[in-house]
Amino acid sequence: MKSEMEQDILKVLVTEEELKARVTEMGAELFEKFKGRNPLFLSVLKGSFVFMADLVRACQVQSEVEFIAVSSYQNSTQSSGTVQITRDLQQDITGRELIIVEDILDSGNTLAFLKDYFMSKGAKSITIVTLLDKPSRRTKAITADYSGFTVPDEFVVGYGLDFAQKYRNVPYIGVLKPEVYSNN
Ligand code: 5GP
Ligand code: MG
Repeated sequence: MKSEMEQDILKVLVTEEELKARVTEMGAELFEKFKGRNPLFLSVLKGSFVFMADLVRACQVQSEVEFIAVSSYQNSTQSSGTVQITRDLQQDITGRELIIVEDILDSGNTLAFLKDYFMSKGAKSITIVTLLDKPSRRTKAITADYSGFTVPDEFVVGYGLDFAQKYRNVPYIGVLKPEVYSNN
């Protein structure tokens, strides 16, 4: 039987199996690059929490984890353009090699803002890892160093990504039925 959430999904874009295989590959690539460098995996909450948990276990390098929370969407599917930090770093990142872990790179507003912010806090290097990339919507000159999947210009949920804070625990990446948005 379908879960109550799965009944709201119109189609699956990336399956659980595809996610697992790609995250494993990305972890191995990051291992090769960062072994011996004690990087700081920095998850951009909330959307990247599932990807972060899988990625750090797929990359068995000596490393640390940190979290920052930002908000730019305010319960809609359109970015407001301004990025607010709602939970700041809890440690000094001076001289650290950062691996920013994002759920999706869309307009690029969030990562453009965060990159400047982390450089101003003294980061030694910044590597951007995003699970999903929607290049068709980019307005800022930001590219990911590592990207899991390129997705079309559709609003996606699951594997950490939400619509109005829901659907984060759907285990794959999918698109919602149009009536779900209009009923909200
Ligand atoms: P950007 O600042 O690049 O426009 O957007 C980045 C953030 O917007 C992402 O980290 C994510 O939280 C949110 N976002 C962008 N596109 C989508 C989408 O298709 N689905 C969901 N759930 N969030 C999105
Ligand atoms: Mg995000």
